[in-house]
Amino acid sequence: MVPLDTTRLTAIGVPEDKAKHSDWDQISRSFSAVRGIGYVAWYPVASEAASLSNANSVAEAVGRWRHREIDGEMLVDFCSSVEQTQVALAQVSENIGGEFGEEGMPGNPWICATHRFVGLSVIVPLFVSAKYQVMENSYVTVAYRPDHRSGAENYALAAELAAPLVTEWFGTPRRKGEVTDLAEPDASAFESGTVLLDPLTSSDTRSYQLAAVHQLTHAALFSSQPWIYEGAAHFAQALEQEQLSNRQAALDFMGSHRAAIVDGEKAARTRPDREVAEALTKTSTEEFYRSKAMYVLWMLRDMVGDAALKRALASYQLSQDRDPSYVQHSIETQSKRDLQWFFDDWVYHDRGLADFRIDSVASRSADGASVLTVSVENLGDAGAEVPIVVKMARGETTSKLEVRARSKATVRITVADSPLSVTVNDGSVPESDLSNNTYKIQSQDTAR
Ligand SMILES: [Zn+2]
Repeated sequence: MVPLDTTRLTAIGVPEDKAKHSDWDQISRSFSAVRGIGYVAWYPVASEAASLSNANSVAEAVGRWRHREIDGEMLVDFCSSVEQTQVALAQVSENIGGEFGEEGMPGNPWICATHRFVGLSVIVPLFVSAKYQVMENSYVTVAYRPDHRSGAENYALAAELAAPLVTEWFGTPRRKGEVTDLAEPDASAFESGTVLLDPLTSSDTRSYQLAAVHQLTHAALFSSQPWIYEGAAHFAQALEQEQLSNRQAALDFMGSHRAAIVDGEKAARTRPDREVAEALTKTSTEEFYRSKAMYVLWMLRDMVGDAALKRALASYQLSQDRDPSYVQHSIETQSKRDLQWFFDDWVYHDRGLADFRIDSVASRSADGASVLTVSVENLGDAGAEVPIVVKMARGETTSKLEVRARSKATVRITVADSPLSVTVNDGSVPESDLSNNTYKIQSQDTAR
């Protein structure tokens, strides 16, 4: 029996009540939930030692293991007491052996089956075993405890609401998402591929919809590249915010990830091999392969348009993803655009973020309209096609401008009303410094 033990986290300074909620792996007679590498090594793992007192060293050691196992798979025989219903295993784990026999004590038999885990670079093999009731619809199977029936119903409904967006962008989900109830009501949720562990106590369908769109995206698009697999699932969440509200809601959702990316880039800068080791195609930094990758897909969407990116994502084939440039070439084929510079700055290297400032604004009146000449400088090492927003007394207008790394570019914008301010970047490009982005137009800027 593995009792609930929080000393692993309290040793590194996590407050005890918080530790209890995120470190909930346990084995007992009535409820067992055990996550694999990075949490509890319940299967053999050959990895160098890493100290938990150095969070980065653990993440890096786990990251190196995952990269090594990118094509790996694992076969595990699970035996569980028939009193318990074994429900959740992990993404792309499948029961390949069937039930191959009963063992255990007389009167308390076990049922055993062989399971296969693949996708070890993007999933954490885990198992949960408890007495559950199960409900399912076309998209998810939810295993819940009887007192959490309404939470389970809310999640099942949320999955139905989330499915059309996922299908539209990533194709039809290829398997059902599995949702499993956690014993502790305050336990923090955990995802591993298409498996979601959650206490199922929420009545908030909207927050479940955000979780479900992420989960179903994993079910529709499988990649062993973490930046594609997780980037797409987070990108889908931003798309959903836009669909439920508007573009600003999506930008706010992505903005809630920005500070973590900026901090991640600051930490990465201390590494001499950062440009290569922290590239999206290689990194084991979660903020990068999740949050930064989400922004990268959003920027690509703004550049090539929905239709081209949807075609590229829906046609993604793991079997053809044998070269880091596979996704680039697929989007280029669909959009007829050269994206080499963009992938060089954001995907194949870690060059930090963009940092725009308005260099100058000149305004000239012509036939009752104002013609603005806006010059933008990018002080960062990553270029982007960035929105330029002109605010007027009534309304605003948005143009786009490609500003490469360490460069300046100029755009001419005609507006009917008198302009008040010009802002570079509406929040869709991750920047290290957002404090220098707005230029207020003074009367002396206007030449007559
Ligand atoms: Zn995910």
